[in-house]
Amino acid sequence: MRLSCQRWGARSMSNKQKQPRKFAIGNWKMNGMRASLSQAAIIAQAARDLKNAETVLCLPSALLPLAVPFATHLGGQDCSPKLEGAFTGDQSAALLADIGANSVILGHSERRALHGETDALVAQKARAAWSVGLTAILCIGENADERGNGETLDVLTRQLEASVPEGATAANTIIAYEPVWAIGTGNAATLEDIEVAHLHIREYLKNRFAAGGRFTLLYGGSLKASNADEIFAVPNVDGGLVGGASLMADDFVPIMKALDAAKLAA
Ligand code: PEP
Repeated sequence: MRLSCQRWGARSMSNKQKQPRKFAIGNWKMNGMRASLSQAAIIAQAARDLKNAETVLCLPSALLPLAVPFATHLGGQDCSPKLEGAFTGDQSAALLADIGANSVILGHSERRALHGETDALVAQKARAAWSVGLTAILCIGENADERGNGETLDVLTRQLEASVPEGATAANTIIAYEPVWAIGTGNAATLEDIEVAHLHIREYLKNRFAAGGRFTLLYGGSLKASNADEIFAVPNVDGGLVGGASLMADDFVPIMKALDAAKLAA
């Protein structure tokens, strides 16, 4: 089964749009039970009040259909590179779309490190996601050793080259820069590090894709209410991918509001 429409509804991306869209994306990882949907409902309600930014909740798959009645933008956290078939335990992009997701996180460092996902596999997954109209939220980022060796920008280039397939557009792909060493540690990257990395990613995208200037670039890694304002003020940061601080509305809604209020720096 193939779905072909882009699923962002009335606010879907227009090719004429000049600026990247701003997104606050929550990644619940393998957290949350049905009772946690009360938090998702508060977050979804707050999302409706935002004027300049959109919110996506990437919930565990089993919770997604239960959130459809109240949440506009929902995402999965991974999908198979295959469209269907005998792949026990895997999840197709088509099913994610069918149960109400309009995007999917791909290439998260936890999947790269814990499940051995390669750039080539991530690229295959992105193609599968696009084929059913899902936006790929594609994660890249260096680990602590690579950073220590001064390889950050080389790693980003390599990952962009190999995990972002031809055909990527500002509508079907969001890039999330997530330094692995900053995820879940409480220590976000410095503003200078984020600025350098995001400029590098922007220049890469501009060189490779006609609409490279309009791709949404997210920062992820210990983003929280107390650092959101300053991180969202960094040039080429168009939003955040948020793990721990997206689980509770009291933590996530202030981040969403900070993004809504932030001016996109060119
Ligand atoms: C993540 O895992 O994508 C993430 C950014 O996590 P945290 O916000 O908890 O660092």
